[in-house]
Amino acid sequence: ILELKGIFKNYGKLPVLGGIDLKLFESDAVAIVGPSGCGKTTLLRVIANLEKPDSGLINRFYNRLGFVFQEDRLIPWYNVRKNLELVCDDERKIQRTLQRVGLAGFEHYKPGQLSGGMKQRLNFARALIVEPELLLLDEPFRSLDTPTKIRLINDLSVLLENMNIGYVLVTHDMREALSLAKRIYIMRGRPAKFVHHIELRNKMDFFDPSFLQLEKTI
Ligand code: ATP
Repeated sequence: ILELKGIFKNYGKLPVLGGIDLKLFESDAVAIVGPSGCGKTTLLRVIANLEKPDSGLINRFYNRLGFVFQEDRLIPWYNVRKNLELVCDDERKIQRTLQRVGLAGFEHYKPGQLSGGMKQRLNFARALIVEPELLLLDEPFRSLDTPTKIRLINDLSVLLENMNIGYVLVTHDMREALSLAKRIYIMRGRPAKFVHHIELRNKMDFFDPSFLQLEKTI
């Protein structure tokens, strides 16, 4: 549903992306893992057409895209329902999405009254309500405590599988990548490139010595 070829991007004199090739398929489950500041957000913004690359080719074959941004984009003085109505005013879709993300019954809460995990569920709801074919997730579990993170990862993986949505998760945490992705790209360098591509056929691949070696270098 998406193809990037030879994507380069500088911010002024700062080289950020140094030749990224990426193919995404329908219902793909991809993680991009790299250190903080290496250009992961920039790459997602290029995919979403929020940022123009300096050079390279992009082919998009999807109709609807969802984006869970790294920073909170919720309107604090609007309740849960109104935050969703900003994106979609179809009552049935709002109800269905609230059910899906586990926020049914919280329609009248304002973001400030929700826990960190609940707030993130609302961010997911905003991205999922349009039933995207491709979902971009930018560090969606940062600043959550471990039990909340684990619950959210479990719920999200079931949800995305059921909805048949392809996704790209950007993270600096290999464990998050392993728990959600079937393919992992390791991004590194300045400008950044993909230095490894790992396909996980089954979870036991984590114990492969070459994989463990790779994990140490991240
Ligand atoms: P993080 O995980 O910390 O968000 P990242 O891997 O997502 O990092 P980016 O946010 O893509 O990295 O940033 C890559 C580099 O580009 C950083 O050095 C950042 O300071 C710089 N940068 C990002 N956006 C801009 C911009 N609009 N103008 C200038 N420099 C920018």
